[in-house]
Amino acid sequence: MKAVVFEEHGGIDVLKYRDVPEPKISPNEVLIKIKASGCNYNDIWARRGLPGVSIVMPHISGSDAAGEVVEVGSEVTNVKVGDEVLVHSSLSCGMCEACSRGDVFFCRQFKIWGFQTGPLDGAHAEYAKLPAFNVIPQPKNLTWEQAASIPLVLFTAWRMLVSRAKVKSGDFVLVWGGAGGLGTMAVQICKLHGAKAIAVANSDDKLEVARQLGAAHTINRSKQDVADEVKKITERRGVDIVFEHTGEATWETSVRSLKWGGTIVVCGATTGFEAKTDLRLLWNKQLNLLGSHMGNKAELLEALRFVESGDIKPVVSVALPLQEAGLAQQAMEDGNVIGKLVLTR
Ligand SMILES: [Zn+2]
Repeated sequence: MKAVVFEEHGGIDVLKYRDVPEPKISPNEVLIKIKASGCNYNDIWARRGLPGVSIVMPHISGSDAAGEVVEVGSEVTNVKVGDEVLVHSSLSCGMCEACSRGDVFFCRQFKIWGFQTGPLDGAHAEYAKLPAFNVIPQPKNLTWEQAASIPLVLFTAWRMLVSRAKVKSGDFVLVWGGAGGLGTMAVQICKLHGAKAIAVANSDDKLEVARQLGAAHTINRSKQDVADEVKKITERRGVDIVFEHTGEATWETSVRSLKWGGTIVVCGATTGFEAKTDLRLLWNKQLNLLGSHMGNKAELLEALRFVESGDIKPVVSVALPLQEAGLAQQAMEDGNVIGKLVLTR
């Protein structure tokens, strides 16, 4: 089969579109003929290399996929050949205390499929194998491209806002990257819960997308001071929640924008990990700093119900052929993407 493969870390030139062996399934696994795969920042971290994370070579990236089941192992009962499915990318043992509680992230065997798996085990290929637990029927109202765009950003944003920060009606929520993959999900999850998203982006085009998805307020960070605008919008009170995934470049503004007793929830740091916090603010304002990582299957299934009902819409701005994975990653690194980029077959 064809796949986008790399064997060393580096720039987009290390990505090769080439033939690799088709995956072989075990009794509890499923083989999927992939129709579309979604691009995530993890693809870029894996290609560049990340301290403390071992990337198995040769590597196929990609943690989001939609496609058709073409083979099932002898123990598989939840799907059959011909089913249209999308992928849940949190892999864990399913047996330990943490898994039993739904805290799959604390499982000693936790891995993100297409990021920490391998060799040659990810979405940016013609076929992929996954445990039967990790395939889910695709919502009927979605195209392949839409289905492939949604799982990872949807359950990540859902866990951050619903499970961790406990967003509620009336909350002001500052959403960095309000027109990006995570941001478009966050804005819609806020609206669904009656909260007021304040979407931040660097262009009016992006802010228009955020408004259409239900952002109550928008801030153009290339023209406006984010902390000042937050003060105006919230009448000096500050926001209840900050949706953080950018890190170093935005952290100080995030902390300053919070109300007394407010909450920052963070799932990543695309601009760098060395953020500074003035600890006086932490105790005086009694702030809550929450980490959040991916999502579990229950969170994905719960959130997908709102995709099926049309309350949460996938946002796919560009679909490129699989062999253009490098172009897709370049666009993401340049910060030029609205919603999600997907790769088609
Ligand atoms: Zn486990």
